[in-house]
Amino acid sequence: MAKVIDGAALASSLRQEYAQRVSALTRRAGIRPGLAVILVGEDAASAVYVRNKVRACEAVGIRSVRLTRETSISTGELVALIESLNSDPEIHGILVQLPLPKHVDMTAVLEAISPEKDVDGFHLYNVGGLVVGKTVFSPCTPYGVCKLLESEHIPVEGQNVVVVGASNIVGKPMALMLMAKDATVAICHAKTRDLAQFTILADILVVAAGVPGLIVPQMVKTGAVVIDVGINRLSDGRIVGDVDFEGVSKKASYITPVPGGVGPMTVTMLLENTIASAERHTRQPAPVSEPA
Ligand code: NAP
Repeated sequence: MAKVIDGAALASSLRQEYAQRVSALTRRAGIRPGLAVILVGEDAASAVYVRNKVRACEAVGIRSVRLTRETSISTGELVALIESLNSDPEIHGILVQLPLPKHVDMTAVLEAISPEKDVDGFHLYNVGGLVVGKTVFSPCTPYGVCKLLESEHIPVEGQNVVVVGASNIVGKPMALMLMAKDATVAICHAKTRDLAQFTILADILVVAAGVPGLIVPQMVKTGAVVIDVGINRLSDGRIVGDVDFEGVSKKASYITPVPGGVGPMTVTMLLENTIASAERHTRQPAPVSEPA
């Protein structure tokens, strides 16, 4: 039977460490990390996500500023709001809750965030940085997966990794981050022919497709590490991942549950990125004053 990786427990112990990092930073440099969260419109799920992020910040001592705007806001107005936050020294992280209304140019909005405050890691600079190994912030969900693997001392170097799902926020950055750790990585997506032909080769299988029951035991190598990023609500209200947990647990060496696996790590990595940003801010040299 696979060992179940308890993401909720890891998230909780990391959050205790973060609370200590925040108070140390405040004592040492008089700085409290600050996160601005922008929520546009009335989407109920987005409002819940934002509320969870704000609560998680408060619990570790991060100051969070929730900025809600009407659905009718224009791209220009949102960009102006972000620019004012970019120059606010008390804000170390800026997050725009997605999705944005259709009339808003999401790319222009995300690119307006200073890469030094882009704690979600969605700015092109940070995405490009993942490719060349110079990113300022890693996107939270794949970063959380890396922390889960580290916490169990699961080696990545030289391993065959298969990532199922190729989205910009999970699958692609996940593949890049594991490649940076010297894994051999394959990425599969909805048009992959014969998915099982790839997944069966994986020493580490990361699944982020949003399809319940996509991965069944026959598709998994005995002893593989299986990380289930998927979050799906079934018609009976149950929340499940993309992996047949019962069946695959009997074959894998490690597996993450849903809920309680990757999910709690995503918001935790947002806290990590915000604190790291504030810590970095204190290390920057003071601006040199112009000669009179
Ligand atoms: P997304 O943008 O919809 O992307 C899904 C990806 O999976 C796409 O690349 C798609 O392929 C691929 N895919 C879809 N059906 C497939 C199939 N049958 N076989 C192989 N690949 C398939 O979703 P996302 O934002 O990456 O999220 C993926 C899942 O992770 C969702 O369940 C989401 O709720 C969950 N999630 C969880 C967390 C967390 O904190 N745990 C965070 C973010 C997302 P194409 O590119 O060809 O369309």
